[in-house]
Amino acid sequence: MSESISFRPHHFLCALGFQGKGYSDDFTANMARIVDRLRGPDGAGVEIEVTFQADHICAPCPLRRGQSCETAPKIAGLDHRHAQALGLRDGARLTWGAARARIRDAVPPGALNSLCAGCSWLDAGMCESALRALHDEAQP
Ligand code: SF4
Repeated sequence: MSESISFRPHHFLCALGFQGKGYSDDFTANMARIVDRLRGPDGAGVEIEVTFQADHICAPCPLRRGQSCETAPKIAGLDHRHAQALGLRDGARLTWGAARARIRDAVPPGALNSLCAGCSWLDAGMCESALRALHDEAQP
């Protein structure tokens, strides 16, 4: 894996909540490698570049179609809402530590119900649990 990672806007929260589920074995193994790096001892310093096309998480996805996606309209909606919430622009670079702080500041518990509307993983609850844990970490 190259040093920096590319994420489309909604994948910042997907990475926060990832619990080993995905669209195929290859997809899940690739995402696990990326997320393990972010959750490792040097994870906070890993640099991430924002893209509105297929990113490093999308790479082995069976739904990817070139730089786009079989479910492009749904994905575009997710990216738009997450980019608005987190203040992410195409080509911006930020560390995973800065991204976590931005999520904590901008995404309150419960917000995923609207931010992630239409995502097939939303009802599983793991992303909301991870979001709540992030906010709990910030308690004095
Ligand atoms: S509910 Fe879906 S879009 Fe939202 S963070 Fe989880 S996996 Fe990502």
